[in-house]
Amino acid sequence: MKLCPICDRKAEGEYCNLHETAYKNIVQMFEKWQSSKGIDWKEYLGRIEVNPNSGSWVLEVCKYLLSREETS
Ligand SMILES: [Zn+2]
Repeated sequence: MKLCPICDRKAEGEYCNLHETAYKNIVQMFEKWQSSKGIDWKEYLGRIEVNPNSGSWVLEVCKYLLSREETS
């Protein structure tokens, strides 16, 4: 059984249902931002992290993705 790397709940895909939904939102929003503001993935994640309107699920996925960026 696969576990969500963020919260250790059971994962269907890469993440649990909640973080999977948040991840999809992040990717969808990035596509819009990328075409309108021309920012890259890492810069985009950094902006989510400091945005007070980011939901907690989104924020957790964002922090996870950022930490993965830094180790790669
Ligand atoms: Zn999760």
